[in-house]
This record gives sequence, C-alpha cells and structure tokens, in this order.
Amino acid sequence: MPGVDKVLSDERLSRLAGKYPHDLLVSVIRQRLERERLSIAAGKPCASLDEIVASVLNQLEALEKPTLRRVVNASGVILHTNLGRAPLSEESLATMKAVSEGYSNLEFKLESGSRGERLVHVEGLLCQLTGAEAALVVNNNAGAVLLGLTALARRKEVVVSRGQAVEIGGGFRIPDVMRQSGARLVEVGTTNCTYARDFEQAITERTVALMRVHSSNFRLVGFTSEVTLEELVEIARKNSIIVLDDLGSGCFLDTTVYGLAPEPMVQQSVRAGAALTFFSGDKLVGGPQAGIIVGAKEYVDKLRRHPLARAVRIDKTRLAGLAVTLLHYLKEEAAVKIPVWRMIATPLKDIERRAGLWEQALGGMARVVPGETVVGGGSLPGGSLPTSLVAIGGGGKNSAQAISRKLRLGEVPVIGRINEDVLLLDPRTVLPEEDDIVVKSLRDVAGQGKKRK
Ligand SMILES: *Cc1c(COP(=O)(O)O)cnc(C)c1O
Repeated sequence: MPGVDKVLSDERLSRLAGKYPHDLLVSVIRQRLERERLSIAAGKPCASLDEIVASVLNQLEALEKPTLRRVVNASGVILHTNLGRAPLSEESLATMKAVSEGYSNLEFKLESGSRGERLVHVEGLLCQLTGAEAALVVNNNAGAVLLGLTALARRKEVVVSRGQAVEIGGGFRIPDVMRQSGARLVEVGTTNCTYARDFEQAITERTVALMRVHSSNFRLVGFTSEVTLEELVEIARKNSIIVLDDLGSGCFLDTTVYGLAPEPMVQQSVRAGAALTFFSGDKLVGGPQAGIIVGAKEYVDKLRRHPLARAVRIDKTRLAGLAVTLLHYLKEEAAVKIPVWRMIATPLKDIERRAGLWEQALGGMARVVPGETVVGGGSLPGGSLPTSLVAIGGGGKNSAQAISRKLRLGEVPVIGRINEDVLLLDPRTVLPEEDDIVVKSLRDVAGQGKKRK
C-alpha cells in the first residue's frame, strides 16, 4: 500500500497544492488509506495507486459541492417533508435575503432606538388574519406543542380522544410529547368513537385542558364519532378549563373552493374559542419552517415567558419570510403568490398542456395519463386533486428504476414516483418556472436511451 507522501506526490494531486490547504489534502488521503488498510485486512487485494488517487480526487470534489441542493419535485405530493415542504414566494425570499445579508432591526425599535421584541414582526399580522388576541412563533410546530404543554400542563392532566393520540411521522407522537412536557395524557373514548360524555367523565381537579389533534396523515372511515371543537369548548367552559388545538398543517383558505375536502381553518379554531391553536409555517401556510401559536393573550403570555420559549426560538431569516407570507393572505393574493396555493389552484388544462411538453421531450418514451396529486404535509388525509401524469415505463436499460435514477442524478435532480414499474412525473408539483429544467433533463434521458439502441 502506498504511503501518504507517495499519494500526495502524484502529479494530479500535487497540482492541487495551491487549491486546497495541505492539511486537508493529507487528511483526505489518510482517510482513504485507512479504508484501504481495512479492506486489505479483510482479505481484499490492494487498490492501485491510480485508483487511490482517483478516489481522493472524487472525495475532494464532493467536499466542495453542498450536499443540500435544489431539486425539482415531480413526485405529485405538494407538501413533501423529505423534499423540504413548502417552496417560498419570490417576495418572501427577497426579504429573507435582505434581512440576512446585512444587519436588521430584529429586536430594535427604529423609532426610539431602544431594544425591541422579535415577534412584533409577525404578531400583528397573525392577529389580523386569525382574529386572535395574541400570537407567538417558534422553531416548528412540534416545538410549539411541546412549549404549550410544558408551560400550561406540567404535572397536570390533559384529556385527548383515543382516536387522536396519533403519530404524525418523523417520531412525533402525541403521547411521547405529552410525557416529555411533564403533562399526564388522559385518553378517552375508543379508537373510532369518542363522545362528549367521555370528556366530561374524565375531567378531575387536576385537568387543565382538553386537547384536539388533527389526525394529519390518516382517515377514519365507517362507524366513527368525534367531538367537535365547539363541543369541547363548551365542556371546557363549564369546567373552567381550556381547549388546546393542534391543527397540524393549519390553513387560512377554504380548500373546498379548489375541489378539495374541507381542511380545518385557523380562523374557525379561534372563533370556536380554543385557548391556543398550534400549526406549522411550512405546511398549507406555505411559508418557512415555523411553529405558530395563536390564541388568548393570557396563555400566549405564559408561553412567551417560559424558559423553553428561548430554546425553541425562531431565527430572523424565517421570521422575515413568514411575515411576507402572511401578508400575501391579508392582501388576498395567496393563490397567485404562494407556490403551494398556486399549485393547488392551477387548472387541469394547464397541467395537461405542460405534461404534453414533457412527453414530447421524451420523444416517444412516455405517454400522458390522468392521475391525482396529493396535498400531503399531514393535511387533507385521503384528499387529492386531478392531474395529468407523464408515465415512463420501458424494459431493460430503460426501466422505470433506471430512468428514475438518471433523473435523480442529473445536474438538477428531478424526483418522480414509481408505481407498478412505471415512473410517474406530475407537473402540478413542479413550479412552471422549472419546466425548462425538466424538459432538458428529459431530453438528456431520451438521448441516452436512443444512443443505447
Ligand atoms: C406536522 C404536525 C406537527 C409537527 O409540525 P412540525 O412543524 O413538522 O414540527 C404536529 N402536529 C400535527 C397534528 C401535525 O400534523
């Protein structure tokens, strides 16, 4: 096995001496040689000097490329958590850049020149939009719910319907969050049916709240019964306790206008009298990652003052982006400015036209078929929008798996989904501005396919 110096003195690497610090070169070579040592110890033959140099060069090249990159989401899931959830509006991005490239008045009052509070930049907008008395924004909704339960229900009891003690994915389980907060979860009812009397009977002198949790990613069908938020508020009032509402996605617009099932709206929750309503910034709100809490001032203030609030605080960049996103709703321009709502609102005929362009780029390898786009992000479980899909499925080297891989490894990765050996690409979840990227990638793939024949 060659030594570090031998590898380092290879012409291809010595040429890079000016480009990379010496210590970095040596460290990457050492790691490569260590792997070689292990592989030899496992009985494999030693790689040639040439192979070792080539893999060091690869490693150096990889170091320079950010691993977190832009991709095109053609998966047909609008709010795809693995693909970063909501893309942001142009105006949001511009403000986030402006606030981040220099200093900002994050916690500074320009009028008086004195210390300010970061949440003023969104609280007024949230109150205006939802009708709530007060609002608080933290890192994400999981953090918001944890903060709410810790600040209000530690060592006390919170009553939740058994059908709502759910896991929403990514390890977020309501019973676990309760335990972490120090609150005691009292589950009532059965998996499919919970009635008002179940809540009433569970209330003791240690109960502080009744909690509703959006079922997010599953739907109960058949013989089911849940207590409405209005009923919960009524029961809570009679017993001098409060209602906490984890809406999950949170939505400001009426989804039925777009042919979707109704998704509970934040405004309804506030109007019904929930003491606190929790929801995400980057699901149907369509903004940056955030946990938003709106409700009664008395309780919002308790959360604000709790030490955990600092631990789950939101940063200036996302705060700036969220403020602009909220403003889109107040100006009634959400459906044209906020990407997730633009996707939801796009008429089917526009999608069909774009699917046709993609199909052409593939030169006979694909066909357009009708399909469905799901909203995702824990909203509207089971609901979908009609769409047109580009379906690619051949055999051998042009298998759905092979083409899907080529598209993933392209300059800008294009992510589709595979269903029964057919690769499906959905234009509805792709921003129209990204069509050029997709068409180029598809042409490349089709070109490669032809060359092989
Ligand atoms: C998504 C979701 C959460 C967690 O929100 P994050 O912003 O991802 O932390 C909590 N509760 C429900 C019901 C959800 O759907």
